[in-house]
Amino acid sequence: MLTTELYSRYSRHLLLDNFDEEAQLQLMQSKVMLFGCGGLGCQVAMALVSAGVGEIVLVDHDIVELSNLPRQWLFTEADAGQKKVYAARSRLAAMHGGCQIRCIDDPSDLIRLATHMPYCSLLLDCTDSVTSRKFVNGLALKHKLPLISASAAGFSATALALNPASGSACYECMEQIGEHSQMCVEQGIFSPVVAIAGQFQASLALSYLCGIQPVDFGQLHVYDGRALTLRHFRINKNPACPACSNNIGEHHEHIV
Ligand SMILES: [Zn+2]
Repeated sequence: MLTTELYSRYSRHLLLDNFDEEAQLQLMQSKVMLFGCGGLGCQVAMALVSAGVGEIVLVDHDIVELSNLPRQWLFTEADAGQKKVYAARSRLAAMHGGCQIRCIDDPSDLIRLATHMPYCSLLLDCTDSVTSRKFVNGLALKHKLPLISASAAGFSATALALNPASGSACYECMEQIGEHSQMCVEQGIFSPVVAIAGQFQASLALSYLCGIQPVDFGQLHVYDGRALTLRHFRINKNPACPACSNNIGEHHEHIV
């Protein structure tokens, strides 16, 4: 049961349709693992921690650079040179002292990652390279966890929820992964689309964690930051997928 203080804190959630005290408590008991504390990761972490998620594991090896500051809003000039996970933890803890915030500053530390997996409800892929995305996708497959991915490059933002353990596609089922995962260092980035991609990702994550509305796994949402339009594409399981075709027996027609 929510205390009076928590009831007041989350009062605007509790006014929403389908968002009752039980949904808020469910969120507060949730644990998520977030890969990548860049522009997307900052947005998702701020949204989830502020909304009341109980525990978040931040995974990133990078340090804060001045070129990050236009879109990585958890960091300040004083954080330059620090590891992102620790700078992010400091800011997030100030936003919500009740959230348990863990840091893993070596994403290749598979033992530490595996330690947390059994207690996680969800993985969040906020990385910015195909190699990293395949790595996180592999963890989602191995540990049978849903995965919410997003990307932002140029003027385009995408968000995609996947749950291969329940029959949806996995990240590698997309034939042209590169088109949906171009690094911002290669083509630049319009800062607002990073925030929009991260908030789409956070919206999917909160819907899933609270159970307030069903998440359409396998649906790719693509936002055009110049036309201000949103399009949707169905990503079906690819029978030839190098990552999941051997893990899950049932296949469907593949359409991207
Ligand atoms: Zn696949």
